[in-house]
Amino acid sequence: MKELIIFKEGEIALKGLNKRTFEDAFIRNLKHRLGKLGKFEYTKAQSTIYAIPQSEDIDLDEAVELGSKVFGAAALCRALVVEKDFEAICRGAIAYIEETAMMSRTFKVEAKRSDKKFPMKSPEICMELGGKILEAYPHLTVDVKNPQMVVTVEIRDTAAYIHAGNLPGAGGIPVGTSGSAMLLLSGGIDSPVAAYMMAKRGIKLSAIHYVSPPYTSERARLKVERLCEKLTPYCGDVAFYCVPFTKIQEALRDNCPEELFTILMRRLMMEIAQRIAEEKDMQALITGESVGQVASQTMGAIVCTDAACRMPVFRPVIGMDKTEIVEIARKIDTFDISIEPYEDCCTVFTPKHPKTRPILADVEAAQNAFDFEPLIAEAVAGTELKVIKL
Ligand code: ATP
Ligand code: MG
Repeated sequence: MKELIIFKEGEIALKGLNKRTFEDAFIRNLKHRLGKLGKFEYTKAQSTIYAIPQSEDIDLDEAVELGSKVFGAAALCRALVVEKDFEAICRGAIAYIEETAMMSRTFKVEAKRSDKKFPMKSPEICMELGGKILEAYPHLTVDVKNPQMVVTVEIRDTAAYIHAGNLPGAGGIPVGTSGSAMLLLSGGIDSPVAAYMMAKRGIKLSAIHYVSPPYTSERARLKVERLCEKLTPYCGDVAFYCVPFTKIQEALRDNCPEELFTILMRRLMMEIAQRIAEEKDMQALITGESVGQVASQTMGAIVCTDAACRMPVFRPVIGMDKTEIVEIARKIDTFDISIEPYEDCCTVFTPKHPKTRPILADVEAAQNAFDFEPLIAEAVAGTELKVIKL
C-alpha cells in the first residue's frame, strides 16, 4: 500500500504572484520538521502539497502529528495512492477504510475530479463506490448530511488519492515569510502564547530572557529553555538569548524611586532587546502583555514602555483575558511548564506600591538621573546565545 500525506493550503492559496514563495517556505519548514522521521519527497499541485515518504518504515501517524503544527496548511490527511482506474480505486478504498468503517455506522463518499479526462463524473464515482462500500461493510448506512465517516476520493493529474477525512492544519502562513522578531520570553503563561500567535503569522522568532542570579536560579532559566523547546514544533529552531540582568536591577534598586522600579526595569529590558535585535537584523519585538493584567501593563505603563522603543512592539495577547490565553497555552502544551513555581527576575525587588499611572516625563527623568549605559553595554556583551533545536 502506497501512502502519502496531503496538505491543503489555507491562506497561501489566496496569494497572487508570490504564492510560490509561500509554498516553498512551507515545504522548507515541513522538510525541517519531518526530517527526523526519514526522507520525504515534496510536490505541489493545485493548492495542495504532497509529502511522499521515501521508505517503508516512516511513521506516518507521527508525521501527521508533526505536520499539523506547521503553519501554512488549512487541513491535512494521510491518503492512499492508487492508479486512476475505477476497479483499483474501489479495491483500495475498501481495504484502506477498514478500521474507520468498523468504528462507524454512517458514511458518505465525496469525490473530487480535477482530472477531467477521468471517464466517470464525481456523482457517478460517489454512487458506484458507495454501493461497493455498502456491500463490503453491510452494517453501514449512507448519511449525506451528518456522516460519521467521509470517504474522499480525489482524482488528480498524477494519481487517485483516497482518505477517510481531513484533520485541521495549523492555519496561518509559513514561518519565515513575515520577517523576524525578538520575543521577550519569561517563564510565565503569556509570552509563549504570544510566540505561537506571531509565528502563526509567519514571523521567525528568536527569544530573549533576563536572569538575575543569585536572585533567580539556574533551574528558572532551564524552565524557560524547556518552554522554547515546546515552541519549536510551531516556530522551528529558536535562537535563545540569555541576558545577565542582576547589576541593572541592583542599580535600579539603589538609585531610582521605588515606585518606578518596574517601569524602568521594563524600559531597560526593551533597550537591551532592541540592541540585540537590531544587530541581528530583526524588525520588531514581541511581548506577552495584556492590558490591565498587572501594574506594569496598565495603559500608562505601556505608554512609558513604548516610549523607550525604536522598533514596533507586537503584543498579540493584548486584548485577551487570562482564560483565553490559558486555553491556547494548554493547546500548545506550554501551560504545565509555565505554572511550575520558579522565580522570575520581574519578581525580584518588586515595589510594594508600583505606579499604575506613571508620567512619562518623571520616568525619563528618573532614568536619566543615573548613567545606565555602561551596565546596558555590559549586559549586552555578557548575553549568551544558545540555539534551541527542534
Ligand atoms: P508572562 O506570563 O508572559 O510571564 P506576565 O503576565 O507574568 O507575563 P509580566 O511579568 O509583567 O507579565 O511580563 C510581561 C511581559 O514581559 C512578558 O509577557 C514577557 O514578554 C516580558 N518578560 C517578563 N519577564 C521577563 C524575563 N525575565 N525575560 C524576558 N521577558 C520577560
Ligand atoms: Mg511573568
